[in-house]
Amino acid sequence: MFNKVLIANRGEIALRILRACKEMGIETVAVHSTADSDAMHVRLADQSVCIGPPASRDSYLNVHEIIAACEITGADAVHPGYGFLSENAKFAEILDAHGITFIGPSAEHINVMGDKIMAKQTAENLGIPVVPGSDGAVTELDDARRIAADIGYPVIIKAASGGGGRGMKVVNNDKEMATALQTTRTEAGAAFGDDSVYIEKYLGKPRHIEVQVMGDGKGGGVHLGERDCSLQRRHQKVFEEANSPAISEEQRSKIGKICADAVAGLGYSGAGTVEFLYENGEFYFIEMNTRLQVEHPVTEMITRIDLVNEQLRVAAGNGLSFTQDEVRYQGHAIECRINAENARTFVPSPGEINYYHPPGGLGVRVDSGVFSGYKVPPYYDSLIGKLIVVGRNRPECLNRLRRALDEFVVDGIETTIPLFQDLVRNEDVIAGDYDIHWLENYLAKD
Ligand code: ADP
Repeated sequence: MFNKVLIANRGEIALRILRACKEMGIETVAVHSTADSDAMHVRLADQSVCIGPPASRDSYLNVHEIIAACEITGADAVHPGYGFLSENAKFAEILDAHGITFIGPSAEHINVMGDKIMAKQTAENLGIPVVPGSDGAVTELDDARRIAADIGYPVIIKAASGGGGRGMKVVNNDKEMATALQTTRTEAGAAFGDDSVYIEKYLGKPRHIEVQVMGDGKGGGVHLGERDCSLQRRHQKVFEEANSPAISEEQRSKIGKICADAVAGLGYSGAGTVEFLYENGEFYFIEMNTRLQVEHPVTEMITRIDLVNEQLRVAAGNGLSFTQDEVRYQGHAIECRINAENARTFVPSPGEINYYHPPGGLGVRVDSGVFSGYKVPPYYDSLIGKLIVVGRNRPECLNRLRRALDEFVVDGIETTIPLFQDLVRNEDVIAGDYDIHWLENYLAKD
C-alpha cells in the first residue's frame, strides 16, 4: 500500500479522500490555493502545500506545482478526485514518468472515454447498447440531414469533447439542421478546442441511469448496481438515488453484468461509471466517466463498500476487497447536492457562513468541508456539501431526508436546501415518477 497520498483537489471530495486514507493508515498531503488556506482538508491533512493563487488554472490545474509538491513531500500516489485533473490523460502520464501512481485508470482508457465518439464506438464493440446515431464525427450538412432522416427527428448534436452538460443542441427538423450544425461546431471548437460533433437520437422522456463499475487491475470487473440521476438542471445532476425506483432486480443484474464484462474486456482499472439514458425498458449508453463521481456515496450507503478505499487498493495492485457475489444492496439512499446558490434563481452566493449546523442521527451522512465562520470563495463551483440519507426502504429514506433537511442550518449565505425541502414533499418525487426533464419543467412553473 502507499505510504503517502497527495490529494489534488479541494472541498468536500478532498476531505472524502482524506478520510479513506486515514482509515487505511496512509499519510495525506493537501494542496491548496491561497483562497483555501483555512479549508478543512488542509487542516486535517498530515502535510499541506500551497500551490498557487485562487484561479484554478494557476493552482488546482497547475501540473508543474502539483508534481513539485509530490517531490517535496515524498508522496507516492495522487488521488485527483473529480473535476480538475481527474480526467486528464496527460497528467496521468506525467505522474507515471515521475514514478508517482495516478489513482485512476490508465492514460489510454482516460483518452478513449474522454472522446465521446471513441467511447461510444468502444462501448458498442463491447456489447453495450448505445443511442442510435452517426457512426462517428459529422462535418457535412448533407450527411447530418441523411443521418437525422434515418433515425428520425428530434436529434441531438453533441460535441465529442463536451462535458459538464455543455456542447449539446437539440434539432427538431430538417430546417434547423444547418444553423445547429454550424453553431455546435463553432461553440465546441471555442469551448473544448475540438470542433468534432456527432449526432444521436434525442430521447423524449428518458431517465438518467448510471452503473458503478470497478476494474480490479488484474483483468476482472464488477458492478455495484445503478444510480438514478434523472433530476437535473441544465443537464447537471442535483438529486441522486440508489437503487433506481424504475429498475427491477432482473434489469439491474442484466445491465450490471454487461458493464462489468465490458470493464473486464477493456482491462480497465479502478472506479468508473457507465452512463445510460433509459426509456421504455431499454438502456442507451451515453458516456463513461473514468473517475469517482460526486454521487458515489449513494452506492456506498446501500452496499457499505468504501469506493475510495477500493480505488486505493486497486491502484496499489492489491485488487478489490470483495467479489461480485458479495455485493448486496440494502435499503435505499438519496443524495442532495447542497450548493451555495439561491434556491430559485441559482445565482451563486459566496461569502461567510456565520453559523453552520449539519443534521445527524441514524442513516444521515454529510460530506462537507464547511464550518461556522468558513468563507465560501467565489472562484470555484458552488457545491458546499452533500447530504446523503439511507433508509431500509425508499419511504423511510424520504421521511428521514425530510427531517434531515429541516435540521440543516447554513446561515449567512443562500443555499439550495429550500429547493430540496420542496422536492421531498412533491408527489412525483415521492412516487419516484420523473424523467430528465421533470425538474426543469417544475422550476419553470413557478
Ligand atoms: P456531459 O458529459 O456533458 O455530462 P452527457 O452525454 O453525459 O454529457 O449528457 C448529459 C445529459 O444530457 C444527460 O443526462 C441527458 O439529460 C442529456 N442528454 C444527452 N444525450 C441525450 C440524448 N440523446 N437524448 C436526450 N437527452 C440527452
